[in-house]
Formats: sequence, structure tokens, C-alpha cells
Amino acid sequence: MELLIKKIKNEGKVLSESVLKVDSFLNHQVDPELMFEIGKEFAARFKDDGVTKILTLESSGIAPAVMAGLQMNVQVVFARKRKSLTLVNDLLTANVYSFTKQESNEISVSQKFLKEDDRILIIDDFLANGQAALGLAQIVKQANATIAGMGIVIEKGFQDGGSHLRENGYKVESLAIVDSLADGKVTFRQDKVE
Ligand code: 5GP
Repeated sequence: MELLIKKIKNEGKVLSESVLKVDSFLNHQVDPELMFEIGKEFAARFKDDGVTKILTLESSGIAPAVMAGLQMNVQVVFARKRKSLTLVNDLLTANVYSFTKQESNEISVSQKFLKEDDRILIIDDFLANGQAALGLAQIVKQANATIAGMGIVIEKGFQDGGSHLRENGYKVESLAIVDSLADGKVTFRQDKVE
């Protein structure tokens, strides 16, 4: 997605060979116009997949997921990372090892929001090793619902989450694929000279 790639080129900061910081438009400050376009792009890519609901993970998945939900006319549920006093009964849970925080979190969703006949689109901000996406997939499976696909804003193609998920048969659509963060530079898949 051209607009997103341009934004990453202009504002992304390479923190290390494996971590990209995009806090000026996605992970801290949020650019609503860009999110709106991202929502349209997800809606276009999953238009034939019969999506009935979107599932994401707080907090950075929420903005792109809500915009996709707006375009697709479906509700959006976000899994919580922290225990909430109001979220206690009938929880679906999974353990997710966080790539950026290097710690495990139990994520949870109230089972009343995911039904057996739902076709769920999983959306997240980044795809690295696939732990967050797999944790969300586990929750969908616990609800006996179907995974319609996975929409990722930025996939780091040099980490193995994307290939692992695709090998497992999931439809994974990433709006930007970063193939390298070497030498402080972001190289996109489309920039590579084959
Ligand atoms: P995974 O679970 O696929 O290993 O990592 C994805 C999760 O870790 C995302 O939900 C995202 O929050 C975080 N993450 C992974 N890599 C990066 C990165 O390079 N930059 C940022 N900002 N977050 C990342």
C-alpha cells in the first residue's frame, strides 16, 4: 500500500535490525486519515471472505481494526492484555509472548462476543514471529468460530511469522512488507531488485 510505505519511509525509525518504530502514526500518535485508508484497503482485500467480525489486540491493533470494521460494516472486538475487574466471567484466553516487551501476557476475550457461526478477520499492527496472531487464532478456535483471514499493517518479512501462518493455511494480507532493517535502513519487498 503506497501511502503506508511512503509514511514508513518518511517517519519510521529503525531501532535495531529487528525493530521498527512508527509511533508518529500507529503505535502512539495515530493518523486518522491514514487509518481510514488502511481500513478501506483491508475491506477490499477481504471483501470475498464473508467476514462477520474483526478481532484485534489492544492497543495498537484497535485503530486499523475499527477503520476496517467501519468499511466492512462489522463489529470489532479487541483482546485485553490486562486483567480487568469487569471482565471476569466466561473468558477465552491465550498466552502470547510479546516480541517487543519480551514477556508473556495472558490475553482474553469475553466469549459472548464470538459466536460459532462467526467468520473472524484477525487484524494486528505488526507481524514478527506470529505469536500475537496465533494467540488470537487460538481464541477464535476456543469459540468454535472460523478464521476468515489475517490482516497485518506492517509485516517484517525477515521474521518467520508470515511464512508460518501462510504454511498453516491462513490467508494473510500485509499492507507493507519490510524485508530488512539492516544498516538503519528500511527495505521494502517491492524495492528489492531481484
Ligand atoms: P509477533 O507476535 O508476530 O512476534 O509480534 C507482533 C506484535 O509485537 C505486534 O502486536 C506488535 O505490537 C509487536 N511488534 C513486533 N515487532 C514490532 C516492531 O518492529 N515494531 C513495533 N512497534 N511493534 C512490533
